[in-house]
Amino acid sequence: MPDTSTSLLVADGKAALTSYAAYAQQGGYQALRKALGQMSPGEVIAEVSAAGLRGRGGSGVATASKMALVAGAQDGQRYVVCNAYDADTRSLAAQALLERNPHAVLEGIALAAYAVGATEAFLYVRSTRTQAAETVQAALREALDQGALGRNIFGSRFSLAITAVGVERGFMGGEESSMIEIIKGRPLKAQQRPPYPTEAGLYAQPTLSQNAETLANLPTILARGAQAFKATGSQATSGAKLVTVLTPGVTEGKLIELPFGATLAQALHAANADVSEATTRCVVVGGMEGGALPLTQLNTPFDFETLQEVGAIVGSAVIETLPANTCMVHWTMERTTYLSKETCGKCVPCRVGVKRVAGLLEGVESGLGSQNDLAVLSEFAEYIPDGSLCGFGVNAVHPLVTAMQYFADDFTAHLDGRCPTGTCEPVRAHRYAVKHVL
Ligand code: SF4
Repeated sequence: MPDTSTSLLVADGKAALTSYAAYAQQGGYQALRKALGQMSPGEVIAEVSAAGLRGRGGSGVATASKMALVAGAQDGQRYVVCNAYDADTRSLAAQALLERNPHAVLEGIALAAYAVGATEAFLYVRSTRTQAAETVQAALREALDQGALGRNIFGSRFSLAITAVGVERGFMGGEESSMIEIIKGRPLKAQQRPPYPTEAGLYAQPTLSQNAETLANLPTILARGAQAFKATGSQATSGAKLVTVLTPGVTEGKLIELPFGATLAQALHAANADVSEATTRCVVVGGMEGGALPLTQLNTPFDFETLQEVGAIVGSAVIETLPANTCMVHWTMERTTYLSKETCGKCVPCRVGVKRVAGLLEGVESGLGSQNDLAVLSEFAEYIPDGSLCGFGVNAVHPLVTAMQYFADDFTAHLDGRCPTGTCEPVRAHRYAVKHVL
């Protein structure tokens, strides 16, 4: 069993490190002092590269590569944007970090800003998570008072201003390019890439956009060294990931810190989840856009590439178990209906396609579907990601694709007019003359 004890978070039962004094007593801000006093920005990036740190926001892009691109941009204003939004509201990762170890996030932002040559940073939080927002703002004020942020940090020539931005904009509020638009005060619409934010991000300037959890790893890497960080995790991905495990009937998930490469079974065991054929139909990995995997896939390692191979994603790192009596047609219909309401609407394949998938699934669930509907659903599963501008559309078909792949019998049963678990209520009473009116 891998070690799932926390390093990023303060372990359950121990006092949170919300005050500057408590954090500093645990060695906090030593990494920043060391970087400012003894290391060049290039050496900081080299250490992050040696540690093999990858973005925890779902993309898995090497953090050092993005840092190097921003650092190497031509002279001018550069920015760091820290995404602590938790797009999937069931994920507890950013919220717990801000509530229990906010200075680790702030120190991580400062280290990243020093590495890329930014003097201004934004901390982007979900405003409805009031305790997290208030805790990190109090930490920000204290860090300013202590000289850990602001002008001439710890007496060095490096200065950094961090502005906290709180918004509530649904699932898409956490998407990288939408977040940058919102900080600029513009409407929520994902943007075409390239150019990537590293080249033209906030106010069209080079911008390092990173997830809060990614940045919170920087103090550990700089203080303890890359090799110590690499001691945890898989060959492909160093370190651990904050994972929220949700089980049926429980409103709040359990947060664990799972080393990359540990299996899904180990993750569920660490969260004390009761998983067997008798209790569980499948495990959904990756959050609202994650894939539904049968219990035969529980030996899959939790890692970017290995999850992708079986149809799931790291995504928001929510792992949920579905009860044994779940009809996968109904689940897919509900999940896709939710996603159809969260799209930003900018591009047609996502805006129209996801709604049409939900509509087709309504028909299938109601016993009004045909073999042809399944063929059309498969077509959409390819067409939507291919024509989508951002990751939302690319990932939105994972529930559909995995449900049709692993639970095909549920779909066939509904075409025969029966629900395999006897739980479905028809959504439609009759087949519409024109079925897919939007
Ligand atoms: S894929 Fe969807 S969410 Fe992304 S830009 Fe297009 S419409 Fe918006």
